Amino acid sequence: NGISRFSTAAALEEPITPPVTIEHIKLLINGQFVDAASGKTFPTLDPRTGQLIANVAEGDIEDVNRAVAAARKAFDEGPWPRMTAYERSKILLRFADLVEKNADEIAALEAWDNGKPYEQATSDEIPLFIRLFRYYAGWADKIHGLTIQADGPHHVQTLHEPIGVAGQIIPWNFPLLMFSWKVGPALACGNTIVLKTAEQTPLSALYVARLFHEAGLPPGVLNIVSGYGPSAGAALASHMDVDKLAFTGSTQTGKIVLGLAAKSNLKPVTLELGGKSPFIVCEDANVDEAVDLAHAALFYNQGQCCCAGSRTFVHERVYDEFVEKAKARALKRVVGDPFRKGVEQGPQVDSEQFDKILKYIKSGVDSGATLETGGQRFGSNGYYVQPTVFSNVQDDMLIAKDEIFGPVQTILKFKDINEVIRRSNATQFGLAAGVFTQNLDTANTLTRALKAGTVWVNCFDVFDAAIPFGGYKMSGHGREKGIYSLNNYLQVKAVVTHLKNPAWL
Ligand code: NAD
Repeated sequence: NGISRFSTAAALEEPITPPVTIEHIKLLINGQFVDAASGKTFPTLDPRTGQLIANVAEGDIEDVNRAVAAARKAFDEGPWPRMTAYERSKILLRFADLVEKNADEIAALEAWDNGKPYEQATSDEIPLFIRLFRYYAGWADKIHGLTIQADGPHHVQTLHEPIGVAGQIIPWNFPLLMFSWKVGPALACGNTIVLKTAEQTPLSALYVARLFHEAGLPPGVLNIVSGYGPSAGAALASHMDVDKLAFTGSTQTGKIVLGLAAKSNLKPVTLELGGKSPFIVCEDANVDEAVDLAHAALFYNQGQCCCAGSRTFVHERVYDEFVEKAKARALKRVVGDPFRKGVEQGPQVDSEQFDKILKYIKSGVDSGATLETGGQRFGSNGYYVQPTVFSNVQDDMLIAKDEIFGPVQTILKFKDINEVIRRSNATQFGLAAGVFTQNLDTANTLTRALKAGTVWVNCFDVFDAAIPFGGYKMSGHGREKGIYSLNNYLQVKAVVTHLKNPAWL
């Protein structure tokens, strides 16, 4: 009857006051919170209303220069790379404990600045953040090289050394999780850091950076520069004294920062970029379970996930039933103030994303896809979008090709497994894929044939600290998390020592 929970939820009511006060709005350089050299600030806005949360110091080239100089000194002369790995590990563990103690406030900042439900920040993002730092604390004292048997009278060993000053640029969709994927392995290996947060979400990183100093991190080891991409971000990517760059964001910006790194000092770059991940529902799937999983795979975090299951491929035998149930599930989605209990979906992060999503929805309608539900702004205030489901989507429609980054599910029909493999792989992206089947042979065929950095089988969005994450094709270079991420932050030095009287020759 078209009556849905999402259309009756509470977004129109007075926004709930977030349970946190904002203390840190300055840049963190050399262990001190400081104003930008220019004295400039930029506004960070509440996505529920578009109103100001705070004015934050706006870092630019000069601030990046100051932060890199601090990180350089901390690396070249400071205690961090010189202390025992066990000492470093203990600081990471103390930091994780402090985050746990302050979890509610940190989650509140994350939800306020980004718009994600407070309950989800508390139950998902903060625990993953803490777990990641404990995981890399465990690695800190287990990083070592090899002894190698080479030809000739030589003793050969490899030393695994920290790479130096790491420049890190992160996006707004998971400000804390992205912070942890970058900072955790870099610090475990003994590097120093200049991190640029996204201009939409500068607040939570500044809070946790203070906790790092309480935990005993020496000044200059972790510097935070808030600010815009083309100014502060570009300055970091092209800095001659930054030894390594790690970037997460759009494919378009990934190309820019790779170019800046190449044009400056050829620093190695890891890139975590966009996606258009297939979620494949086979004919033998339990449809109810598949509907729930596909729903979560797309709508989680307001659809703002790089790995969102944003092309839902459904076998023709279960297609009609699936579409009906996917629509019913979307209609039940609870949209509203992220601080209200039980809310599943808050507002999009800002007006730019909101406008972009509504444009894609219009293009879906114009290109002839069937709008099953949603399609409109939700409420009249802030950046809420109705949970939207399209069926009868064709591969050549824009909504099936571009990353929408919003709560818009696109459902496509397929007939056989070779066809769905071909269509799933027919994209510039290769970040993730989901496979839903009870048939082991089908699962094995798909997991091997899909060109994606992660394939989830009968699950989705499993983000354990130990599991590597990254993209094939234009979804990126390199892997983050797990043992794989350590290599991003280490240099390998081969040491070959001549043996005068080798005993075994
Ligand atoms: P974005 O590329 O616009 O911004 C990302 C970061 O880059 C921000 O900090 C921004 O200020 C900075 N930036 C922008 N222009 C820059 C420039 N010229 N030089 C240097 N830095 C610059 O992306 P976004 O819209 O903030 O984030 C969404 C995108 O991130 C999506 O495409 C999403 O798929 C991707 N993402 C990928 C992953 C992953 O792990 N693969 C995770 C989260 C988000």
